[in-house]
Amino acid sequence: MSARILVVDDLAPNVNLLQVKLQAEYYDVLTARSGFEALEIAQKERLDLILMDAMMPGMNGFEACKRIKSSPDTWHVPVIMVTALEETKDRIRGLESGADDFVTKPIDDFNLMARVRSLLRLKMVTDQLLSHTGHTLSNSRDLLETIERQKGKILLVEDHEFHAEKVAKPLRERHHVIVEKDPVKAIRIAKSGVDAIVVSLVSSSFDGLRVCASIKFNEESRDVPILVIGDPDDENRFIRAYDIGINDTVMRPIEVQELKARVQTLLRRKFYADSLRENFNENLEMVVADPLTSLGNRRYFDRAIEPLFDSLETQATPFSIMIFDIDHFKRVNDILGHDMGDQILKEIAARLVTNMRAIDIVARYGGEEFMIAMPGTNAADALIAADRVRALIAGTPVFVDGEALQVTTSVGVAEVEAGEKLRDVFKRADDALYKAKQAGRNKALPAQLNKAA
Ligand code: GH3
Ligand code: MG
Ligand code: MG
Repeated sequence: MSARILVVDDLAPNVNLLQVKLQAEYYDVLTARSGFEALEIAQKERLDLILMDAMMPGMNGFEACKRIKSSPDTWHVPVIMVTALEETKDRIRGLESGADDFVTKPIDDFNLMARVRSLLRLKMVTDQLLSHTGHTLSNSRDLLETIERQKGKILLVEDHEFHAEKVAKPLRERHHVIVEKDPVKAIRIAKSGVDAIVVSLVSSSFDGLRVCASIKFNEESRDVPILVIGDPDDENRFIRAYDIGINDTVMRPIEVQELKARVQTLLRRKFYADSLRENFNENLEMVVADPLTSLGNRRYFDRAIEPLFDSLETQATPFSIMIFDIDHFKRVNDILGHDMGDQILKEIAARLVTNMRAIDIVARYGGEEFMIAMPGTNAADALIAADRVRALIAGTPVFVDGEALQVTTSVGVAEVEAGEKLRDVFKRADDALYKAKQAGRNKALPAQLNKAA
């Protein structure tokens, strides 16, 4: 689905010009001729970006932007303010009204498309962040505002002391800035975990493009956003810089407000992405890990053993599974209480993990049932291992609240036979477990062979 952009301008020729340019890049374009109309459309339609003319009769672009940014339904839509050239106070007003970026008239196509793409990427990351974390637009503001206030670590690569200070000083108001004039050291710092990098293309002692390329080439620094600073007649080098993968540019003479706004957008994207990754990993873990014992759960086990079935089939590598079930656990719960029961479960889980090999897959499969898969292990060896661990559990008291308790387990062991599915081998191991219980518990028994296989 292509991104949807709203173009707002009171003059029809301006609207048409932008519409044609954006449609040529396959964006889906809506148009509005006033601030009021823009607000109306923003409430009704799903938008990915707004290009807002600053100067319009009635409600101007600043006011419209401010309202969009303060509405719970639309505040997350990025706004690019379109201002007249050389109007510094307009830019500042734009930033104050919450605009994410701005372009100046007459609009330079190359510049415009770079901004549009950059903000659309940011919007995509924000959307993902919201959906992955289960946040809705209205309850996610806190999360995103925290991201907004986060202090960034910025690396500035510039060999001219005076120029460096001019860039570093305003950024230091909110962030931590490291200035580096040696390109080799800068590339090393980039890999050590910074949030954004500003590279000067006008440095005399090194080639800024080469620095950008190295940073993007290195796996550890590839994802750090880069902004380059250059002269207006550097257009060819800017194009090459975008090819290398940099994210944004600022022309000299540097306008402080513009520099700050662009760096802020880069940092925002970096922090969104970081937060997304963190949340995503957390969610993944929640899906496959059992919170009580920290072992993998059933879902984890079922997924983790898939490759074992594959290598059984393709290379005839054997593997076995075992089911451990705690004996008379209901009684333990009844006598000692559920909390003590939980402590015992944790302890048994820990003993299973520490007494199996690192390559074995250990999971909490059900309430007080643990599943283990032993790669490269036949039935006889698996039975020996199972009985060893069973004896160890029974032979070492579990201490809960200072009390020494004897806890025993019963085990069913089965080697997976050719052509078997998990449920087939599970059934055989479970039957063996049942027999172990029948035979008086605290025993490990082998499964019957699968006659059908
Ligand atoms: P058996 O020797 O035949 O296995 O007897 P058992 O009492 O262990 O039998 P059963 O498997 O029917 O009972 C399992 C009990 O485990 C039931 C339930 O109360 C308890 N249980 C299951 N999950 C948990 C848990 O997360 N915490 C605690 N404390 N108890 C649990
Ligand atoms: Mg039991
Ligand atoms: Mg049970």
